[in-house]
Amino acid sequence: MEINHFIDTIIENDIKSKKHKEAITRFPPEPNGFLHLGHARAIITNWSMAKKHGGHFNLRFDDTNPIKEDSMFVDSIKRDIEWLGCHWDNLFYASDYFEEMYNRAMLLVEKGLAYVDDLSNEEIRTLRGTLKEPGKNSPHRDRSIEENVKLFQAMKNGKYDDGEKVLRAKIDMSSSNMNMRDPVIYRIQRAYHHNTKDKWLIYPMYDFAHPLEDAIEGITHSLCSLEFEDHRPLYDWVVEHTKMKNKPRQIEFGRLLIANQVTGKRYIRELVEENKVMGWDDPRLITLSGLRRRGIPKKAIHNFIHSLGLPKSEGETEIEMLYQHVREHLNETAPVTNAIVEPLKLVIDNYPEDEVEYVKIPNHRRNKELGSRMVPFSKHVFIERSDFLEEKPNRKWRRLSLGEEVRLMHAYFVKANSVVKDDNGRIIEVHCTYDPETKSGSGFKGRKPNGNIHFVDGTHYKKVEIRLFEDLLKEEYEKDASFEEKVNPNSLVIKKGVIEEKMSPEIGDKFQFMRNGFYVVDKDSTDKTLVFNRIVPLRSSYKRKKRKN
Ligand code: ATP
Ligand code: MG
Repeated sequence: MEINHFIDTIIENDIKSKKHKEAITRFPPEPNGFLHLGHARAIITNWSMAKKHGGHFNLRFDDTNPIKEDSMFVDSIKRDIEWLGCHWDNLFYASDYFEEMYNRAMLLVEKGLAYVDDLSNEEIRTLRGTLKEPGKNSPHRDRSIEENVKLFQAMKNGKYDDGEKVLRAKIDMSSSNMNMRDPVIYRIQRAYHHNTKDKWLIYPMYDFAHPLEDAIEGITHSLCSLEFEDHRPLYDWVVEHTKMKNKPRQIEFGRLLIANQVTGKRYIRELVEENKVMGWDDPRLITLSGLRRRGIPKKAIHNFIHSLGLPKSEGETEIEMLYQHVREHLNETAPVTNAIVEPLKLVIDNYPEDEVEYVKIPNHRRNKELGSRMVPFSKHVFIERSDFLEEKPNRKWRRLSLGEEVRLMHAYFVKANSVVKDDNGRIIEVHCTYDPETKSGSGFKGRKPNGNIHFVDGTHYKKVEIRLFEDLLKEEYEKDASFEEKVNPNSLVIKKGVIEEKMSPEIGDKFQFMRNGFYVVDKDSTDKTLVFNRIVPLRSSYKRKKRKN
């Protein structure tokens, strides 16, 4: 798909005007959760700009906040980005720059552009003013440079307790941009860091660290989501006054939000920790690992992201848009197989007891590369329960019912004659007769069947578990409902199905189940039982959803 958006144009112009030779970009996640579909926009945008404009793409862990971070998240983020196929050219950890960041902060102190403040967080907030009123100077704002140098060193060396002192940039307490009112750039925090361990007692704040990280790596275009727009003046200020050689340009784009889906690491974490889902990779989540386990092809994610373009403002998109790309992709690439999600047994009374016939069926109608297979047919077969009704309900019913004849695809016409029910009145068997004249491929034209239905042979099959998903959240719920009340009870339904006996797929293999949907083999599969996830049904059941809140 052709990439063409406002950031692409900016980069193209920078290259034409010789401001830059190439685009050097980065994706800077905080390792405090799993990546989700929203992050895919940031990853794919940064990665594709570097690819298109001959530069390189860095993965940088923005690990400057030790308390929220964990190496489990580092691993999952790497796995997810690799899966997307957005391979990074360099892998960096912001924490590797702590020394340089400290030195650059000291440079500000020495230039009189930063000072140590003794005020508490609360006091700093109060003096910051409001959007309507300017802030007030801290009583410590005019400390001498010598004193600030000593105090900042002392902060680093552990002379003060957490929260006792901070380092602030000295900018403008009456700026109309609140971020410029002497922001805190270093704080004291005695916390174990997953990379630097116990080495540091002071940590840089995001707004100071991030521009330095970009400048250190020579990032040319620092692409991020819109909520950082107000931080851009501070970003530029930091780069300017710390004497960085490289001057990256921050450009913001709109976040991708998905309607009626749980996004935001905090909420996903809550669902995981309260066991409302099967883990971070639950197929009902839009974490990248959940989408992967659900069987969503990475190609569909790329197509989805590109098809939305790159809006400058935030916008909500329906998950069905992604599913449509999934169908388009799998329709061409996934082998087709017969599988029955809710089996009903047919007994073909006039078919010989021990006979088995085989017919060769291509695995895809157009894609010949997917080969073919031999499908058995015998006296017992399974059909979908939904393909049979005792009484034909109306003329549109193009399936099996008593007295009606249908074609079992690739086999014969069968006519239903009687049913056997259990004590609860549930049908457990349908007795049929077949017509040997109607063999598929024989050119029989005598009469038309009441529809074509697929089957799995009743003596050659495998029992499988099939997981059907709906949206995790109900369509409607009260605004302040708890997760308990919001979760859709039908978001996971488990069925006992059957598949063709010869199928022996691997975890992650994807199929089209005839007349039903696309399915993937789940990691919960064992040697004894395969587990299939429904990726999406063949047809969209999409209707514009309305919610109260
Ligand atoms: P969350 O919203 O899940 O808490 P986050 O913003 O805290 O995510 P970070 O690790 O800070 O996650 O984000 C890494 C990068 O991903 C940032 O540059 C951010 O701009 C981008 N990003 C995060 N969420 C989205 C989104 N929904 N759409 C586009 N980009 C996003
Ligand atoms: Mg964030």
